Amino acid sequence: AKRLGRNTYQFFTPDLNEKVRHHLALRNELQRAIEEGQFELHYQPQVHGPSARIIGFEALLRWKHPERGYVSPADFIGVAENTGQIVPISDWVLATACRDSLRLNELGLGQYVMSVNVSPLQFQRNCFLPDLLEVLTNTGLDPSLLELELTENILMGNTETVIETLREIRSHGIGIAIDDFGTGFSSLSYLKYLPITKIKIDRSFIQEVISDHRDAAITHGITSIANQLQLQVVAEGVETQAQYAYLQKHLCESFQGYLFARPMPLKELADFLGEHHQA
Ligand code: C2E
Ligand code: CA
Ligand code: CA
Ligand code: CA
Repeated sequence: AKRLGRNTYQFFTPDLNEKVRHHLALRNELQRAIEEGQFELHYQPQVHGPSARIIGFEALLRWKHPERGYVSPADFIGVAENTGQIVPISDWVLATACRDSLRLNELGLGQYVMSVNVSPLQFQRNCFLPDLLEVLTNTGLDPSLLELELTENILMGNTETVIETLREIRSHGIGIAIDDFGTGFSSLSYLKYLPITKIKIDRSFIQEVISDHRDAAITHGITSIANQLQLQVVAEGVETQAQYAYLQKHLCESFQGYLFARPMPLKELADFLGEHHQA
C-alpha cells in the first residue's frame, strides 16, 4: 500500500491495477495457448571447443502468439509458475524434447544430450520423478541422453528431500546441470553433497569476462572448481570470438551462445546437424 497522507492508504495505485489486469489477461491467454498448442521448442547447441563437436542441445520454450508473434519465456514463465500453468506446459516440454531428440537420432544425425529446464513448482511436485520416468519409457529415450537444468534456488529447498530426489534422478543415469551458476542465493557447499554433473556459468559473468577482472576471476574460479570436482562446465552466452578464445585459455571447454548457434526449430537444427555432420 502506498501512503498518500495521514490515515489515507491507496491499495490499488493505477500502476498496480495495470499489473493485475496484465496478469489476468496473460493467464487467460496462456490457458488458450495450452489448449490450442501454441508452444514450440527451439534448440540451442552446446559445443565442445577442443574437438569442435556438438555435445547436446538446450530446449528453449517459445510461445507463438497468434497476434503478437513469438513471446519470450522471460515474459510468461513467471506468471505460468504463479498460476500453476507451468505444470501442463512443462509436461509438454519434456515429452516434446524427448521425442525430438529421438527423431534426430532416427534421421541418422547422431546422439546428443538433450537438456531441459525445470521450474521450481515442477520439481517440488511428488509426481515429478514418476512422470519423468514415464515420459522416458513412453518415448524410449535413453535416460543418459537427458539432462535436467536446475537453478540454485530450486536446490535451496528442504535439503533432505532435494538430495533424495537428485540421487534418484542420477540413479537412472539422467544428468543434472546447475543453471545460471553463481547468480542464486546459495552457498558453494551444495557442490560437496549434491550429485550434480554439470555447471553452467551464467551469461552475466561471460559478457564482460575480457574487460572486467572481477568477472574473469569469478569465471576462472568456477571453471577451476568444476574441473577439480570433475564436473562438466559450460559457459553460457558466448557471443564473440574473443570471449571464446579467452575462455578456452582459462580451462573452460564447453560453450553455448550465439557465436556457435542460436536456438532454432527442429527442422533447422536437423539441417544444421546435417552440415556439421560428425561421423
Ligand atoms: P536460460 O535457461 O538461462 O536459457 C538461456 C537463455 O539465453 C535463452 O533465452 C537463450 O536464448 C539465451 N542465449 C543463448 N545464447 C545467448 C547469447 O549468446 N547471447 C544472449 N544474449 N542470449 C543467449 P530464452 O530462450 O529467452 O529463455 C529465457 C529463460 O526462460 C531461460 O533462461 C529459462 O530460465 C527460461 N526457460 C526457457 N525455456 C524454458 C522451459 O521449457 N521451462 C522453464 N521452466 N523455463 C524455461
Ligand atoms: Ca537453462
Ligand atoms: Ca542459464
Ligand atoms: Ca539465465
